[in-house]
Amino acid sequence: MRIIGLIGGMSWESSLEYYRIINEEVKRRLGGLHSARILMMSVDFHEIEEQQRAGDWRAAAKGLAGAAQGLERGGADFFLICTNTMHKVAPEVRAAVGIPLVHIADAVALEIAGQGLKRVGLLGTRFTMEEDFLKGYLRTEHGLEVLVPEADERRMVHDVIYNELCLGIIDADSRRASIEIIESLGRKGAQGVILGCTELPLLIQAKDVSLPLFDTTALHAKRAVDLSLEQGDVVECPDFRIS
Ligand code: GLU
Repeated sequence: MRIIGLIGGMSWESSLEYYRIINEEVKRRLGGLHSARILMMSVDFHEIEEQQRAGDWRAAAKGLAGAAQGLERGGADFFLICTNTMHKVAPEVRAAVGIPLVHIADAVALEIAGQGLKRVGLLGTRFTMEEDFLKGYLRTEHGLEVLVPEADERRMVHDVIYNELCLGIIDADSRRASIEIIESLGRKGAQGVILGCTELPLLIQAKDVSLPLFDTTALHAKRAVDLSLEQGDVVECPDFRIS
């Protein structure tokens, strides 16, 4: 079994989910007392959030690159950045180490392709919804069309992530509002919606909405298990497209 490296703490509420899902999945696949071989570097989210707000992505990239180097030194065979937003600095972090990065968008695109969908909605932080590091990646690497909510809806989702979910607060009104945003993306033509923030699955589950949801936390975690248990090389940026 390969050692899965995790850069966590962004927030730890979702890192817990990664740890749980990866272990449950290994147990489900191997049975008995099996559990995952995991190495986690968990950062202080207070510092990361300050860097995000100040637009100091260089400092954030440097911090995460250091965490990735720690995972490599510790013996991780490959690693995950356990947040969508911080994939903004994925190229810099990837370049700092010799072990492969399992990109969150590759994991989610694999599932979307499997369901034969081409146009999906995306919920996440304002960075993820408004900038191109994830949307652009899904478009250019995987041929997906990505729709995002309106400006006031984006603001609301962003605030719910930082002021509630990352603090462990699950609020029924926020759930209702997020469900409505997802349904309205469906009315605008989205065939499914990506929960593109690793805390969002704490608020919304598949049963709550009428269109398929793509839970980045679960899909990323399960992809890590695939690669941990697979024989052969870990392939970075798998070459698949939605045609
Ligand atoms: N975990 C969140 C995400 O997936 C937000 C926290 C962060 O800014 O990293 O984007």
